Amino acid sequence: MHLASYRSPKTESKKSSIEGSGRFATAAINKGEIIAIRSGHIINGKQLAQHEAIIGGAEHQIADDLYLAPLSAMEFNDVMCFINHSCTPNVGVMGNIIIVAMRDIQAGEELCLDYAMIFSNEKSFQCRCGSALCRKMVTGNDWQRPDLQAAYGDYFASYLLQKINGRF
Ligand SMILES: [Zn+2]
Repeated sequence: MHLASYRSPKTESKKSSIEGSGRFATAAINKGEIIAIRSGHIINGKQLAQHEAIIGGAEHQIADDLYLAPLSAMEFNDVMCFINHSCTPNVGVMGNIIIVAMRDIQAGEELCLDYAMIFSNEKSFQCRCGSALCRKMVTGNDWQRPDLQAAYGDYFASYLLQKINGRF
């Protein structure tokens, strides 16, 4: 069967001022509405590194050392959600793979996730999101920051919430 992520019909991909292509609202979206549901092959960090040229940042972490990702150029556009990182996000995570609106969103707004809500690894990147709260350097350990935990509450991926809540 064809591998593809679900993207809300109220969204579209187009050029972003943050980075490359972004995902934008084409109509008003209410808090709690589903923006996207991630699909992909389940791979570990070693496989991610091996296929980095194809995956190109389209990976979505679902557990320690496990990711959803496209594994061919053909799959890339259908698996990628084009949701950029912002240090002032308007979407968050429900469970591990469902992206939801954290607040009411207006038509035309870019849909952004704080990658601290999904990643726990040794990667980092320089952020140019333009937010007044921009961390400049975003790392795979940012989920541990108390300020972000306070700001995002239950909008972290559930595998990270388990860590935050001290279950394991
Ligand atoms: Zn930023």
